[in-house]
Amino acid sequence: MNKRLISLTIFFISLFFLNGCGLLNIHNENVYLSSENYDSVTKTFYNSNKDSNKKSSFELISFLLDFIKRPYDTRESEGFTLLDPAKQKDSSNGRQVIWIGHSTLLLTIDGITILTDPVFSLRASPFSSFGPKRVTPPALQIIDLPKIDAIIISHNHYDHLDIKSLKELNKTQPQIRFFVPLGLKNLLIKNGLEFVHELDWWEKATFNGLTFTATPVNHWSSRSLFDRNKTLWSGWMIDWPNYRFYFAGDSGYSNDFIETRNRLGSPDLAAIPIGAYAPRNFMKQSHINPEEAVRVFEDLSAKRAIAIHWGTYKLTTELLSEPPIRLRAEIKRKNIKPSRFVSLKHGQKLNL
Ligand SMILES: [Zn+2]
Repeated sequence: MNKRLISLTIFFISLFFLNGCGLLNIHNENVYLSSENYDSVTKTFYNSNKDSNKKSSFELISFLLDFIKRPYDTRESEGFTLLDPAKQKDSSNGRQVIWIGHSTLLLTIDGITILTDPVFSLRASPFSSFGPKRVTPPALQIIDLPKIDAIIISHNHYDHLDIKSLKELNKTQPQIRFFVPLGLKNLLIKNGLEFVHELDWWEKATFNGLTFTATPVNHWSSRSLFDRNKTLWSGWMIDWPNYRFYFAGDSGYSNDFIETRNRLGSPDLAAIPIGAYAPRNFMKQSHINPEEAVRVFEDLSAKRAIAIHWGTYKLTTELLSEPPIRLRAEIKRKNIKPSRFVSLKHGQKLNL
């Protein structure tokens, strides 16, 4: 067995034991029963198309083998160019976004600052020595962040929900409000986070003059081998009095985006994932590819968009540098102005 295979085997066996050690989320069914997206028989959530993105053992093993045999990717060892946000000009109108890496964005609109899916750890994994390792460091450290008003979290996968980062954020900035999809509040409360708002799809919460709405996306959840879909996943729409931001989190392509635009309106800015899509037959239901990301941009009728979920963790078999190349090609093919859907460098600041 090569080193990669040994690491992966240990990783998955460890997940099995983690579950046995009772580190799972506390499952409080009473909270979920009112949800239209919850099945009280299987005690799991499902997507708006009634599918649950389940994979057979054969499909899983076949993906793992494809991943082990993946083509050599120089970016896995070299990473990407990292820009220092402090060396770039702040926007003059008080509206800007910084890509910290993967799905973590620091967004400031009219004096309110939001952080999305904050992951600052070296690995997107429950373990410090195994699991997907960061190829590019976070563009800002937690200690260097400005005052954060709210954090939105899309779902519980380790590359989106990093408890270590959340605890550190909560310690340095205890005023932060956390917005999570249904079922995740227990995990956060258990880890000492106090101000947690838990929402079902289409539910709204207001804070500081902003409205937060959890929106459906096509995905799934899990933090161990036996908790698949026990908690919900979502996108987020945030409405300022004069600005609207949409965060897709993690998603396969579905009608959810058109429905989101119809119900909540078109966003001024949308954060849309473009990476982690190959092999396509395995990833299609869970992750859009760059061409589908452009379709999502069109479905939402977004004024502009920023690419997320690429260039930070090696999760799938496509080259880490491929997603923005395909994104640019698709934008060109569809005659969309390039500045309307951009992929930033790590740490790059975009004035809005
Ligand atoms: Zn995910």
